[in-house]
Amino acid sequence: MAAHIRPKKSLGQHFLRSPHHLRRIVDAADLGPEDVVLEIGPGTGALTRYLVERAGRVIAVEIDARLVQHLREALGDFPNLTVLQGDILQMDPAALVARVLGEWRPYKVVANLPYYITSAILRHLLESSPSPHLLVLTVQKEVAQRIVARPPRMNLLAVSVQFYGEPRIVHTIPRGAFYPPPKVDSAVVRIDVFPRPRVDVPDKELFFRVVKAGFAQRRKQLRNALAAGLGLPPAVVVEALRQAHIEPTRRAETLTLEEWARLTRVLFQQGDSRFDKTSA
Ligand code: SAM
Repeated sequence: MAAHIRPKKSLGQHFLRSPHHLRRIVDAADLGPEDVVLEIGPGTGALTRYLVERAGRVIAVEIDARLVQHLREALGDFPNLTVLQGDILQMDPAALVARVLGEWRPYKVVANLPYYITSAILRHLLESSPSPHLLVLTVQKEVAQRIVARPPRMNLLAVSVQFYGEPRIVHTIPRGAFYPPPKVDSAVVRIDVFPRPRVDVPDKELFFRVVKAGFAQRRKQLRNALAAGLGLPPAVVVEALRQAHIEPTRRAETLTLEEWARLTRVLFQQGDSRFDKTSA
């Protein structure tokens, strides 16, 4: 561990020190010599060390210049490691992999994520094209539980992740395994990404607009939440819900992905002139 580097809380720097947990993270990624891994936020390189030993190629993107320099010194002997400085949210992950390898290849993401941008990174990775086919991410335990939630406890993050892949919690990590310890425990989530989204929708943007509108007023019945969120007359929403075989009095948390997709298809087909599909 780089004793001279003071962790920056503003960058979510909590370094995992436990070999037991590090090994379990790497095990969850089923790595072999044919694998290309993108690691986000390698920090002091604790996880990176295990990754370079198991994967064919590792590309590590770290925002903090101090840590990049440390990593290059400490792990410079590994010819299969490329350390880059930058903000992952400003990079196109697939293009980055192709640029580093000289050709595009399928890749996995393994990362102990900075918690302050977990959702943004998840969205960034899952919406990228082509996206990684497997993600093994350490996140706050409570966030992990939200990601794997099912009806009747769905939420926007669960829909956003499960639209693209199948998430499951692999194991939990107590806060004391990190330095400095965060305020909450963590969990490792493995997401197997589908070759195409789990449900069939005519327009991805419209699908997420409908889902967001539903969850914007989670406690309200769907007909009211959707009418308010989509700017549609309640009668139009009720009719669309009926056509999608969804009871208008239900709440967003109870809907399955297929029901959200069905509703999106009805609204899309309806092509109601009052429903502006392009506005945000
Ligand atoms: N992988 C290390 C470990 O397991 O000990 C460090 C994990 S720490 C929770 C998160 C790391 O992400 C930090 O090193 C931080 O500097 C880095 N980071 C924060 N924001 C980032 C961003 N936007 N892009 C890339 N790295 C980032």
